[in-house]
Amino acid sequence: MDVPFLSLRDVNARYADELRAAASRVIDSGWYVMGEELRAFEREFAAYCGVAHAVGVGNGLDALSLILRGYKELGALRDGDEVIVPANTFIATLLAITANQLVPVLVEPDAATFNLDPARVEAAISPRTRAIMPVHLYGQLADMASLSTIARQHRLLVIEDAAQAHGAVADRRRAGALGDAAGFSFFPTKNLGALGDGGAIVTDNDELAARVLALRNYGSEVKYQHLYQGCNSRLDEIQAAMLRVKLAHLDDEVAMRQDVARRYRDGIRNAQILLPQVAGEARHAWHLFVVRCGERDRLQQHLHAHGVQSQVHYPVPPHRQPAYSSLHELRLPITEQLHDEVLSLPIGPAMSTAAIDQVINACNAFGRAP
Ligand SMILES: *Cc1c(COP(=O)(O)O)cnc(C)c1O
Repeated sequence: MDVPFLSLRDVNARYADELRAAASRVIDSGWYVMGEELRAFEREFAAYCGVAHAVGVGNGLDALSLILRGYKELGALRDGDEVIVPANTFIATLLAITANQLVPVLVEPDAATFNLDPARVEAAISPRTRAIMPVHLYGQLADMASLSTIARQHRLLVIEDAAQAHGAVADRRRAGALGDAAGFSFFPTKNLGALGDGGAIVTDNDELAARVLALRNYGSEVKYQHLYQGCNSRLDEIQAAMLRVKLAHLDDEVAMRQDVARRYRDGIRNAQILLPQVAGEARHAWHLFVVRCGERDRLQQHLHAHGVQSQVHYPVPPHRQPAYSSLHELRLPITEQLHDEVLSLPIGPAMSTAAIDQVINACNAFGRAP
């Protein structure tokens, strides 16, 4: 048997009837952008996150970018202000910052959790620092209690990149409710995935919500009256309808991911494979199950030979990308080592026990005589 990295077909097949009914509802309605499905999803997702506002947008990158743009319109951020961000994040976090003429300050993660290290964040604060953008990488919440304390002391905004952490919980609060504002992605592979692109901004801040509501729709609150030079980044009715179906199953899916992760952590016993560290069971929504291995490429080949697909998140860190040549001289040894060692094992809400066992057995056979 081959174990795919993630079968989106299997994930969505379980809700096929509900998804078809929702799609039919939209098709028959005759209204396809900015309608009842979006308003209902925004209400439901805000309630799920435990915040006052959710604003649907076109994708996760736009969600992050429009939060920063909204704060600029409010005067809370200005060109050239510094934003602290984990060095080992996905490129989108940086793109949102630099697209807004802000300066990303890359901070090394805690190698044990892959998340921002609060002590290093504090050391990176300068007179130009205005915000911290923690990324709940791989689905595990960053140390938001420590980061919030630092942010309060230095009067910084905290903007969560929650694109991988739908459903993670700390102190009874979900991802999205742990900072001043948060950006989510509903890319099909994410924990809450649409059947196309989608994203959302969530916040308790009424003024920010009003700004991003306008910014996503040509900077307009009233048709043909343009307060800002906005963009077109809307979550369409079909995707909102798909997301309403899937939101109702999100907690079950997170529990299934947590179950797969528990089995891996109990079952994988190999001195060459370092298992992910968990700061608390509910804090991790297991978007990805990422192990470390000094011989990562050989492990990946070995798993492939045993029918197990794996992926690398991510092979090249942002500061080594051609797109960011201005950051090339940065020395970030922890980040660089992690990018050489990380490997993501298959995980998802539709994995069979046999598939989980096959992954465990393949990992445990790595490095042993055949
Ligand atoms: C997926 C992702 C994004 C961007 O989301 P898109 O919907 O693909 O634009 C941003 N940050 C992180 C950490 C992500 O994983």
